[in-house]
Order: sequence, then structure tokens, then C-alpha cells
Amino acid sequence: MRRIISATSAEEAVKLRHEIENSSYLAGGTEVMRLGSSIDEECTLIDISSLPLSGITKENGKIRIGALTPLEDIRNSELVPAFIREAASFAASLQLRNAATIGGNFALRRSDSYMAAALLASGCTLRVMCTKGEKEKSVSEYFEKKGCRALILSFDIDESRKGSVNRIGRSSHSHAAVIMAESMGIWAYSVSGSGIAYGSDRNVYESIDYHSDLTGSAEYKKYLASVLAEEGSDDC
Ligand SMILES: Cc1cc2nc3c(=O)[nH]c(=O)nc-3n(C[C@H](O)[C@H](O)[C@H](O)COP(=O)(O)OP(=O)(O)OC[C@H]3O[C@@H](n4cnc5c(N)ncnc54)[C@H](O)[C@@H]3O)c2cc1C
Repeated sequence: MRRIISATSAEEAVKLRHEIENSSYLAGGTEVMRLGSSIDEECTLIDISSLPLSGITKENGKIRIGALTPLEDIRNSELVPAFIREAASFAASLQLRNAATIGGNFALRRSDSYMAAALLASGCTLRVMCTKGEKEKSVSEYFEKKGCRALILSFDIDESRKGSVNRIGRSSHSHAAVIMAESMGIWAYSVSGSGIAYGSDRNVYESIDYHSDLTGSAEYKKYLASVLAEEGSDDC
């Protein structure tokens, strides 16, 4: 049976996450509480949903998005750069957008992640809570450290950050085959069942190990990524 422990502070959440080997944070719960979740039944959930980590603010040219901010709030915010808002809108169901958080979506690192490509391209900075206290990490530094137990507190994005994001899928409600984001010379690709690649070369999609799945064959998805690479803007 699932055990859920409520954390009363970010520090406590991180401490529990380190003390309990098989544990996971509970934010919106759309992954960890769903039937057939990637998280096993014995996993202890550390409930962070009541921590004050939700909201979007602007300070010193940066837009700060709290890790518990739901995708729907991001989609509707005038403060958030347009391509980040558009990425949040790729979650087609309002119910899911109201529950799923930006921190949960990014931390999951799904190969078809709505937010991972856009946030990686945005070059944003993460504020995270570790056992040794609060730290700043570049988006790529956090992303590369799979299995990281730090708690994401917020994402800081330049308010003037320009970019674009594109999604190809059979329909708005079906899984995306390929998502491509580019922003000021950084390109990022999420490819369903295959992986995520990003960097300063628009052809970085070629480094992905493509696999066939319900969204299409490996060859088809590579072709789609090449089309998106050609179409993306060259603004730097
Ligand atoms: C029907 C359906 C279709 C979906 N389709 C897609 C899709 O096409 N693309 C896609 O990207 N997603 C998809 N999702 C997944 C959904 O977007 C994610 O479940 C959601 O974004 C996770 O956010 P959450 O807040 O619910 O996270 P939770 O389920 O609460 O947590 C998910 C994970 O994130 C970690 N986590 C949560 N918050 C933090 C934090 N602040 N710091 C560090 N780690 C944290 C947890 O430890 C856990 O491992 C789909 C979900 C459903 C139910």
C-alpha cells in the first residue's frame, strides 16, 4: 500500500527524500498517482503540494515560475515568454493542465515531455533545494543528473527570451511524436520513446537513438525532426 508523508518545508522534503531510498515527490500527482504509473506500489510519496512553490513573478528582468505552478497557469500568464506558454498548452486536457506542475513535468524527463524541450532551449536557471541548502543550477546541469533527489523550487527565465516550439502528433490529444523548441541559438528535441537532445546545432536531433512506438516508426520520427529543424527560425 502507498505511504504518503506530508512535508512541511522544502528542507524537510529533501531530507525525507534522501532518508527513504524508495521515495518520490508528490506534486500534482498526475504521474505518481495514476494507474500504471512508472512509480512502484511500495514507493513512499513525499507530499510537497502544500508548500508555497506555486506562482509566477517578475523581478530584475527574470520571470520566476514556481515549481508547483500548474501548466494551465503558465499557459494563461502574460508574463511568461510565449514559447513556454505554448509548450504548456500542448497538454491537451484542461483537467491535466490544472493538476500537472511544471516541476513534475520537467523532473520526469519523459521523452515526449511538453516542457523539457522548451525549458532546455530557454537556457533558464533552476533554484533547487539540496541537503546542503538552496542552490542555483543551469537547466542542463539539473537535466543531466538523472536520479537527482534535489527538490526544484523554481525556474528563472529571461523575460525577453524569444523562441518557438512545435509539436507533431496524430492529434492534439494523442501523444506527440516529436517536439522541437529553439531559442536564441539553442535547439532541443523531445522524441517519443527515443529521447531528448539539445545543443547549439540545429541538427542535434541526429544524435538521438530512434525507436519505433505507437507514435510512428523510428525512420518517420527522424524525418519529422529533420523537417522541424529546417523550419525553425534562425533568430539569435
Ligand atoms: C493522460 C495523460 C497523458 C499525458 N501525456 C503526456 C505527454 O504527452 N507529454 C508529457 O510530457 N507528459 C504527459 N503526461 C504526463 C503529465 O504531464 C505529467 O504526469 C505531469 O507533468 C507531471 O506533473 P505532476 O505535477 O503531476 O507530477 P507528479 O506526478 O506529482 O510527480 C512526477 C515526478 O516528478 C517529480 N517531481 C515533482 N515535483 C518535483 C519537484 N518540484 N522537484 C523535483 N522533482 C519533482 C516526482 O518525484 C515524480 O518523480 C500525461 C499524463 C496523463 C495522465
